[in-house]
Amino acid sequence: MVGEEKGWSIPIGYFDGKLPISGNRILLCGDAAGLVEPATGEGIAPAMSSGRYAAWQIKKCFKENIFSADFMKSYDKDIRKKYFRNYYFKTTITNLYYKMPFLMDWVIYISSKIFR
Ligand SMILES: Cc1cc2nc3c(=O)[nH]c(=O)nc-3n(C[C@H](O)[C@H](O)[C@H](O)COP(=O)(O)OP(=O)(O)OC[C@H]3O[C@@H](n4cnc5c(N)ncnc54)[C@H](O)[C@@H]3O)c2cc1C
Repeated sequence: MVGEEKGWSIPIGYFDGKLPISGNRILLCGDAAGLVEPATGEGIAPAMSSGRYAAWQIKKCFKENIFSADFMKSYDKDIRKKYFRNYYFKTTITNLYYKMPFLMDWVIYISSKIFR
C-alpha cells in the first residue's frame, strides 16, 4: 500500500485522448486512465489491453534506459490510436441517450419494427 484506500465511481466517459495518461516513470492503465467502455461500462478488457500496451512501453524503456515523461508519450499515442475514435463515438451516443432518453426509446422502437 502506498496510501489510504478510497472508493470512487466507475470512470465512464473520462477518456478524451487529451489528458495525459503517462509521466516521468508513470503509466496509467485501465480505470486509472479512464478507459472504461463508455457505452457498456465494461472495464476489464480495456484494463488488460492497456496493461499490455504499458508492458510494451516498459520494455522499450528498459531497452533504451529512458523513463522520462517525453519518452512515455508514445504510450499515450498508442492508447489514443486504439481507443479514441471508438470511445468518442460511443461517448457522443451515450451522452445523447442520457440527455434525451425518449430519442433512444424511439430508435429502439423503430428498430424493433424494421428488424423484426
Ligand atoms: C460492481 C462492479 C461491477 C463491474 N462489472 C463489470 C463487468 O461485468 N465487466 C467489466 O468488464 N467490468 C466491470 N466492472 C468494471 C471493472 O471491474 C473495472 O473497470 C476493472 O476492474 C478495472 O481494472 P483496473 O486494473 O484498472 O483497476 P482495479 O481492478 O480497480 O485495480 C486497481 C487495484 O489497485 C489497488 N490500489 C488502489 N489504491 C492503491 C494504493 N494506494 N496502493 C496500492 N494499491 C492500490 C486496488 O486495491 C486494486 O486492486 C465492474 C465494476 C464494478 C465496481
